Amino acid sequence: MTIASSRTTSGQPAVIPAGAPEFAQACQAFNLAVDQRPQEVAHPADAGEVAALVRRAREQGLRVAAQRTGHGAQALDWERPALLLRTDRMLGAEIDAGARKARVNAGVRWDDIVDDLSGQGLAALHGSARDICIAGYSLGGGQGWLGRKHGLQASSVTAIELVTADGELVRADRDSEPELFWALRGGGGNFGVVTAIEFDLYPLAELYAGALLYPFERGDEVLHAWRELTLDVPEEITSVFKLLQLPDLPEIPDPVRGKSFAVVTAAVLGDEADGADFLEPLRRLGPAMDTFGMVPPVALSYLAMDPEDPLPYTSSHHLMSELPADAVDTLIEVGGAGSGSPLVMIELRHLGGALARREPHHGAYAAMDGEYNLFSLGGILAPEDAPVMIEAADRVAAAMEPWRSGWYLNFVERQFDMSQVFDAETWRRLQAVKAQVDPDGVFAGNHEIPLP
Ligand SMILES: Cc1cc2nc3c(=O)[nH]c(=O)nc-3n(C[C@H](O)[C@H](O)[C@H](O)COP(=O)(O)OP(=O)(O)OC[C@H]3O[C@@H](n4cnc5c(N)ncnc54)[C@H](O)[C@@H]3O)c2cc1C
Repeated sequence: MTIASSRTTSGQPAVIPAGAPEFAQACQAFNLAVDQRPQEVAHPADAGEVAALVRRAREQGLRVAAQRTGHGAQALDWERPALLLRTDRMLGAEIDAGARKARVNAGVRWDDIVDDLSGQGLAALHGSARDICIAGYSLGGGQGWLGRKHGLQASSVTAIELVTADGELVRADRDSEPELFWALRGGGGNFGVVTAIEFDLYPLAELYAGALLYPFERGDEVLHAWRELTLDVPEEITSVFKLLQLPDLPEIPDPVRGKSFAVVTAAVLGDEADGADFLEPLRRLGPAMDTFGMVPPVALSYLAMDPEDPLPYTSSHHLMSELPADAVDTLIEVGGAGSGSPLVMIELRHLGGALARREPHHGAYAAMDGEYNLFSLGGILAPEDAPVMIEAADRVAAAMEPWRSGWYLNFVERQFDMSQVFDAETWRRLQAVKAQVDPDGVFAGNHEIPLP
C-alpha cells in the first residue's frame, strides 16, 4: 500500500524570511505559549530540497532546526540564528503488510497511517496523540500503548535516511553507518535532517481497551487501587492513571466539558477475560463511566483523548523508580481533591516490561529508566496564568522528587541538559558521533548534544 507520495525535485524551495506575512504562521508550534524565533523558515518537498537548504544555511552561517508538528518545540534554543526547516510537505508512506514493515517520509504523522494499518490487522508503536510526527517521536524514543509488550518505537526502527551537514543523503541502518544509526535513535535531531524512516509493524486485529472514569474526589482510592495492580501485571497490559480538571471550553466534548475526573485508561493485548483480573478491583470501586470493549488497533490513537488542536500550556515531568503508597498520598496532596491544584492534567503512565529492557540492537535511548512516567500539564488561557501554572506543575514534580529515577526526553518540554538522560559512556559515544557527522554544529535538535 502506498499513501500519497511527495514529488521529487532537486531545486530549492522558497525561503520565508522573518517579517514576511506568512512567517508567524510558519513558525507556530503546537504549544501556542511557545515563541519560535528563527531567521527563516522553509518547507522542502523532498531530500533534494533539504540538501539544497542545508548547503544554503551553511553558507549564510545559519543553524538548521528540523521540525514537523512543533509538538516538541518548547525545548529549542533560538539564541543562535537558525533556519526552521518544516517537513510538512514531505509526505508519502509505503506499507508492506506481508513483511510488516513501514517506510514513511519525514513529514508523515501517525494519523496518516494508523487507520490503514488497523484495517489490515496491523499496529504501530505510536503514542497517545494521533497528530504527532513519526520522525520526531521515533528519534526521541517513542513510548505508547503497546510499549510494555513491544518496547520503544525507536527500537523498532530499522533504517533512517538523512541529509547530513555536507548536504549528502545518507542511509543509516544496522549494516551501513551503524554508529550513526545507533545515535539517531535517542539522539534526536542533532545529526542531520531525517528524510525517511523505516520501522517494524505488529500484527493486531483487535484488543480490549477503554477508560474508567470516577469523580475527581475519588482520586485517592482509585490511585491506591491502580498502584497495587501495576505491581504485578502482565506485559500485555499497559495502563495510565490521570487526574483531569477539564476547562469549560467549546473544544471539549459535552459529556466531560468543565468537569473533573480520576481516570484509569488501559490497553489489553487480549480479550475481556484477559483484562478481567486487572479491571475487577477498579470496577468494584464503581466507576461513573466504563468504556472498555473490543476495539480495532486504531482506537488506541484516540484512547487518551489528547487535544488535537494547538493550545497554550506548560508542563513538568520526570520518570519514577517506584510508586509506594506514600508517593500516592503525596501526589493526591499536591494535585488531588482539596489541593487547589489548577492543573488540567496530572498523569502517571505505567512503564516497565519491554520498555525497561536493553537489547544489543537498540539505539542510544535503549530503555526507560523508571517504572512510571509522571507528567503534569497546565493550560495558559491568559498571560497571567503562566506563572501560576508553571509553579503548580513544578510543585508536582518537586513533591515527587524523592522517587525520581530519570527523565524521558520526548516529555521534557523545556531547555534541559540532555546529558542527564544518558550514562557517561552513552553520552561520550553520542558526542563522538556528533563531532564526526556535524563537526561545525549545524543541526539544532530540540534537546542539544553539544560538540565535545
Ligand atoms: C499532546 C502530546 C502527546 C504526546 N504523547 C506522547 C506519547 O504518548 N509518547 C511519546 O513518546 N511522546 C509523546 N509526546 C511527545 C512527542 O513525541 C515529542 O514532542 C516529539 O518530539 C514530537 O515529534 P514531532 O516531530 O511531532 O514534533 P516537532 O516539534 O516537529 O519535532 C520535535 C523534534 O524532533 C526532531 N525532529 C523532528 N523531525 C525531524 C527531522 N525530519 N529530522 C531531524 N530531526 C527531526 C527535532 O529535534 C525536533 O526539534 C506527546 C506530545 C504532545 C504535545
